[in-house]
Amino acid sequence: KIKSLIEAKGLLAEIEFTEDNCGIGVTKSGCHGFCEMGPLVRIEPDNLLYLQVRLEDCEEIVNETIINGIPIVRLMYSQNGEIYPQQESIPFYKNQTRLVLEHCGHIDAESIKEYIAKGGYKAFYKAVFDMEPEDICQEISDSGLRGRGGGGFPTGKKWFQVLSQNSPVKYVVCNGDEGDPGAFMDRSLMEGDSHRIIEGMLIAAVATRSTEGYVYVRAEYPLAVKRLNLALESARKYGLLGENILNSGFSFDIHINQGAGAFVCGEGSALTTSIEGERGMPRVKPPRTVEAGLWGKPTVLNNVETFANVPSILNNGSGWFKTIGTQKSPGTKAFAVTGNVNNTGLIEVPMGATLRDVIFESGGGIKGGKKFKAVQIGGPSGACLTEEHLDMPLDFDSLKKEGAMIGSGGLVVMDEDTCMVEVARFFMNFTQNESCGKCVPCRVGTKTMLDILERIVEGKGSLEDLALLEELADTISETALCGLGKTASNPVVSTLKHFRDEYIAHVVDKR
Ligand code: SF4
Repeated sequence: KIKSLIEAKGLLAEIEFTEDNCGIGVTKSGCHGFCEMGPLVRIEPDNLLYLQVRLEDCEEIVNETIINGIPIVRLMYSQNGEIYPQQESIPFYKNQTRLVLEHCGHIDAESIKEYIAKGGYKAFYKAVFDMEPEDICQEISDSGLRGRGGGGFPTGKKWFQVLSQNSPVKYVVCNGDEGDPGAFMDRSLMEGDSHRIIEGMLIAAVATRSTEGYVYVRAEYPLAVKRLNLALESARKYGLLGENILNSGFSFDIHINQGAGAFVCGEGSALTTSIEGERGMPRVKPPRTVEAGLWGKPTVLNNVETFANVPSILNNGSGWFKTIGTQKSPGTKAFAVTGNVNNTGLIEVPMGATLRDVIFESGGGIKGGKKFKAVQIGGPSGACLTEEHLDMPLDFDSLKKEGAMIGSGGLVVMDEDTCMVEVARFFMNFTQNESCGKCVPCRVGTKTMLDILERIVEGKGSLEDLALLEELADTISETALCGLGKTASNPVVSTLKHFRDEYIAHVVDKR
């Protein structure tokens, strides 16, 4: 008899399989992205998805579905009386284009064999044996891939810049800091498909002739750290990391560096300083990270999702990548959708999809049938967008025109009951707490803005305070040293622009 331990929500149930059912097993995958409906159980090869599964359901799943082939309807997704047995037919998934998240929830997150069986490390093999570094940089450049960490800088251009540096030591660093409140795309990738990130870093190393790599990951992501470590160990065992990889003459290894949760360490120069063992604080640029990054050496610094795109580009070609998304922002973007939305979770769509697609199609609309009011996009550095922006394409340039940014992809949805002044205060409180204090405009300016917002929320503000907030926002964004300070006032500026009446109501109400 086969005995298997099924783990659900930290509890263990022992399930007994009969001799007739050899080959049946339980695999722990990474996150499926449908957070609202977790825990999820996917039955293969039938391709059934069961939602909100409880420990008590496990025995029934084995006896009914696995042994007798009878689906359990009550565990399936249903909407307006319609039942959706297969994952791909559920509206939350149906409207997505899952490229970087393709393996998340579908493979054993701790098995290198499953990653290889899905075509994993094929792109690295091609890079190391069939391509010159210049060709790889050119392919990535031709694909139009732009950094998914916020800025949207062309990845191929960055790699060319590092390749052109004349240094025997170069580094590849993966930014897995992900400090935005409400963002968890990178976490999901690191937990659910760690080998994909390692493969992307290996390709970057071949492309730029780099010698060593680091993944900078928050210590608050213990499962991501554990799975990355397991993935690195198995990659070493398979000869994919270390000296003379696959007898190619190319040597490269990756280390993990755990961050202590400072938001500012998501900024490139602060991140590399933190890896060096110093306090993570941004520095004045130039020199840029591509010239003098980690330990003063040329460094490729990309975020998790950017590296996760790389293997598919090399496998399928830059032409294929450009058929997805928009001309200036090819590919997809994974958004972490949270707040007053029916389907919270990870939603990956082609660049150029609209907020309406994300919030109302995959996201299933607003909770409790309430009215949509606003969405905060791009985390604390982003901006609040309103109903008038619902049909605006989500890509780097369209958002920039509106004073917003994709950021790392956090989307916090708000309904009609949300106080926008309170939202602005919340985000300013976050940024102010996270300011490293190195420069005056950010250290003192964000504190002054927070004091004003608190005054307004408490009903003690004045109309002059609104003008002062705008003046401070201008000054801080012009003079702060790093991106954190430069963008800290975005939520205030955008709420003042779109919801000024609410600020005025707070000020007038006190009388
Ligand atoms: Fe530090 Fe803020 Fe200045 Fe950035 S802008 S260096 S976070 S004080």
